[in-house]
Amino acid sequence: MTTPNYVTEPAGQVPVVASSDLVVVGGGPAGISAAVAGARNGLSVTLLERYPYLGGLASGGMVLVLDDMCDGPAVTVRGLCSEIIDRMTRMGLCVTPPEEDWISDNAKFRQWARWGVYNFHSHQKPQPICYASAFDPDGFKRAANEMVAEAGVTLRAHSWFSKPIVEDGTIKGVVCETKSGRQAVLGKVVVDATGDLDVAAAAGSPHSLGSFIVTTVFRLGGIDTHEAERFEYEEPEAFAVLDREAKRIMGGSWERWWLKTPLPGIAWCNCPHMAGFDGLSVEHLTNADFKGRERIAELVSFIRAKMPGFKNAFVVDVAPQIGVRQSRLLEGEYVLTKEDVTARRHFADSVARGRDYYYPYRTLLPKGVSQLLVAGRHYSSTAAAQRISREIPPCMAMGEATGVAAALSLQAGVTVDKVDVRKVQDTLRAQGADPGDRPAANATLQMAAAE
Ligand SMILES: Cc1cc2nc3c(=O)[nH]c(=O)nc-3n(C[C@H](O)[C@H](O)[C@H](O)COP(=O)(O)OP(=O)(O)OC[C@H]3O[C@@H](n4cnc5c(N)ncnc54)[C@H](O)[C@@H]3O)c2cc1C
Repeated sequence: MTTPNYVTEPAGQVPVVASSDLVVVGGGPAGISAAVAGARNGLSVTLLERYPYLGGLASGGMVLVLDDMCDGPAVTVRGLCSEIIDRMTRMGLCVTPPEEDWISDNAKFRQWARWGVYNFHSHQKPQPICYASAFDPDGFKRAANEMVAEAGVTLRAHSWFSKPIVEDGTIKGVVCETKSGRQAVLGKVVVDATGDLDVAAAAGSPHSLGSFIVTTVFRLGGIDTHEAERFEYEEPEAFAVLDREAKRIMGGSWERWWLKTPLPGIAWCNCPHMAGFDGLSVEHLTNADFKGRERIAELVSFIRAKMPGFKNAFVVDVAPQIGVRQSRLLEGEYVLTKEDVTARRHFADSVARGRDYYYPYRTLLPKGVSQLLVAGRHYSSTAAAQRISREIPPCMAMGEATGVAAALSLQAGVTVDKVDVRKVQDTLRAQGADPGDRPAANATLQMAAAE
């Protein structure tokens, strides 16, 4: 018997289980922010998430440093990102260097470098300590739960988006796969916060396919961090040899492959770097998970045997969610380029900021489908631009902007592409966010007509 290439699905009916003003698909940093901002601005909101927890890569992916949220001493990402930092700090699950430590100084660098809270874009030596936060993944989940619950968001976890409902070019809701079968959720505005552009791509919005290294992030316990740092700073030549070998075993990592966390003796390891994997392919993701775990096991044997401070190291956990940095990217009303990011190009319709760069509202607006917004790492950009503008804080800022834009457009009775962007900026600012409407002194200003 030959295996057919396709099977035909029978047409059928899908029960409508919820209906709200705003439907947010994806409960990662961008989706949480979109949902909370929408609800706080008066919308009924349904938040859909495939996993049983909120946070996306910031919790399930165990990406445990919030960065790209300051430009020198100026804090550029505020709003809901600052709020989640404050909440986690009150739980004792977030560490941020105090303002007086945001300087380039050898003693401060030694104190803070292993927290990952320095400006790694700086050419200064030592690189300055900056406003960045090391946090605990369970802290992020708990703080996010609090925020969505207090805002009155209806959370539907265990709901895997599978199909958009589009009528005459307007999105009307989505269909999810669940343990109870397919379920439809209807909304007046939909935000795609899946990170992979699942909704907009399926709805037919133009997009490109990017790719970047993937990582099975993991945590190690039983580390004597004091001894590990003593070895690093007091025996730099011996350290360099062992550190190089650790990185070789992993097939690549950033400069510091382990960083401290708010939990004593527990480190997070933002590695190994694995190239050539497609973040949308079942086969690739399966293989990457296996390969990552093999490299981690080899690394742990090596460091236990050789590396001072690591003789009792053990794997606490490997992130339940593999770290995909880039997959589909929207080609929306404006496509941000690497030059826009590096030149700090300012846009009159900026609604969010990263480190020192700006996101125009048009990068969150898909073409071809009405009432759909996009927020997060799949925003409208080139692959090269996205690689340097996809950190958690700006993704939260984009999400917050979409929640506010959805609310203001529905209140004004206009479609999301016709919302008064000035009002979106003013509302975001009044609510504590920085929409980037006021260009910093180092921004490249743009003639309005040329935008
Ligand atoms: C290994 C790695 C290291 C990184 N290091 C840093 C760092 O040090 N600092 C930093 O700030 N950023 C870092 N980043 C970048 C940052 O983590 C991401 O860009 C950011 O989390 C993106 O947020 P998001 O909300 O757009 O997407 P995600 O965090 O990917 O969240 C998307 C959410 O949507 C859900 N979802 C996806 N598809 C569906 C579906 N079909 N149905 C229902 N739900 C769905 C997911 O489960 C998830 O909860 C790193 C990323 C990786 C992978």
